[in-house]
Amino acid sequence: MFKENLFEYLEKTDPEIMEAVKGELDRQENQLEMIASENFTSKAVLAALSNPMQNKYAEGYVGKRYYGGCEFVDQAERLARRRVRELFGAESANVQPHSGTQANITAYLAFIKPGDKIMGLSLLHGGHLSHGHPVNFSGMFFDVVHYEVDRETGALNYDTLEEQAKKERPKLIVSGASAYSRFWDWERIRKICDNVGAVMMVDIAHIAGLIAAGVHPSPIPYADVVTSTTHKTLRGPRGGFILCHKKDKKSVNKMNFPGTQGGPFMHVIAAKAVCFKEAMTEEFKEYQKQVVANAAKLASYVIDHGFEIVSGGTDNHLFLIDLSNKGLTGKAAEKALETAGITVNKNTVPFDEQSPFVTSGIRVGTPALTTRGMKETEMEEVGALLVRVLENMEDENVLAEVRKKSFELTRSFPIYI
Ligand SMILES: *Cc1c(COP(=O)(O)O)cnc(C)c1O
Repeated sequence: MFKENLFEYLEKTDPEIMEAVKGELDRQENQLEMIASENFTSKAVLAALSNPMQNKYAEGYVGKRYYGGCEFVDQAERLARRRVRELFGAESANVQPHSGTQANITAYLAFIKPGDKIMGLSLLHGGHLSHGHPVNFSGMFFDVVHYEVDRETGALNYDTLEEQAKKERPKLIVSGASAYSRFWDWERIRKICDNVGAVMMVDIAHIAGLIAAGVHPSPIPYADVVTSTTHKTLRGPRGGFILCHKKDKKSVNKMNFPGTQGGPFMHVIAAKAVCFKEAMTEEFKEYQKQVVANAAKLASYVIDHGFEIVSGGTDNHLFLIDLSNKGLTGKAAEKALETAGITVNKNTVPFDEQSPFVTSGIRVGTPALTTRGMKETEMEEVGALLVRVLENMEDENVLAEVRKKSFELTRSFPIYI
């Protein structure tokens, strides 16, 4: 079977699904993907994802499985764990979480109890649902207080955070975000946690690739537990992992299985191992440097053209454009940009006056475009297209013209073909 092309096989056996797959491939190839949490994996990662380890039940951990026949999946999981430990300089790793949210469920429950107090960045200020939002398990199971960014600077104020922590005395402080464009001061957060006796949990879902490449400060020397996804800047398969100290390895492993998950996705773990290997290369470091350089370039372009960016700029792979001074909404901007072949997501800005379904902002990220090989020169072109759309959102002709231009740009930077 593996001598055949798997997609030719799928085309023969299920043309309806193949049609959807092809449509998605074309969509990815033909539009400018600027959703900050998305990326394009290598063909090696895709190949690992469609491997027959998918068929294997392997509840438990290497050497201690509840099923026979685990020799080869053990080999893959051992490699994944060893590689991710080396990549981040961590003592212990669990590579079984099915997603970033699953990793967070495990991490919370390994360190604190349901009903305990946690402190996390508000979703409306860039945090993630799994950092205590009421509709999420984290908001249902824990007593949550949220911290926010500073109204003046749009960035975190660690003095305010410390004051709030002293007043609230949470059992755990979770840092990390989905829409925050500034470096985190992990050392300061460590001190705050020590001051109030809180567990320091860091969720690096968005910035894992940057940290692996050394272009963002690493929380590993400071945190008690670090959670992440593998599919954002890290550019691997969809999934999660957890890093911790040796002394906590047992409780983290136990809480992931049998605590909160069943059988691990062994094909995904194999693909994670591939991703971690790729992330150790010089090429990957260069890629992450370019991601950050591209975000900086694009941010300064839109600022120069009269747009406001939350916190005034970016240190990482993303930024938020605050459209409220232009009288525009994130919802309308997302739609106009999509028509023009540019994919972003609407996003609340701190202290947003619009609802989360409408929003005053859009989140813009460079990981996916950078994977295609785009550099600063292309960021100027993309910036010009972005600004053109935002300034002419009602003009169908402009949107069609930009659509053509964005398509042409994608032609010079193919992903898989
Ligand atoms: C994306 C993200 C997650 C969740 O990842 P999923 O794999 O979608 O569950 C968790 N935390 C942060 C900060 C994220 O950005």
